[in-house]
Amino acid sequence: MNQCKHIGNLIGPYLYGDLTTQEAEIVENHLNSCERCRLEVDVRRKVLARLAPQTPTPEERTRILLAVRARTLRADRAVAGAILWPRRAFVAVAAGAVAAALFLGGMWVGGRRRRERSA
Ligand SMILES: [Zn+2]
Repeated sequence: MNQCKHIGNLIGPYLYGDLTTQEAEIVENHLNSCERCRLEVDVRRKVLARLAPQTPTPEERTRILLAVRARTLRADRAVAGAILWPRRAFVAVAAGAVAAALFLGGMWVGGRRRRERSA
């Protein structure tokens, strides 16, 4: 811990930008002459930079949003396919059954007419 009496507990507020202009000047003047405080400010500034949330650049933000959108679209298509496949299969089977019924009905009617004519 820093034992310097000159700026004491001002280093934290200084790093967070919570000092008045006058207080910040006092700290900066002290940092120009005190190696120990300068080192502490440097270390604490590096720690804060590592702890700070990372803000993406506009390009990174666009890339991230496009990647999320592409994944969402793929997931939506997969879900839609899973929902639509049984319906499509049912419609195909029903259409086949109707076509078969019409074909067999036509053959039955045609056969009956042939039998009536020959009788
Ligand atoms: Zn100092």
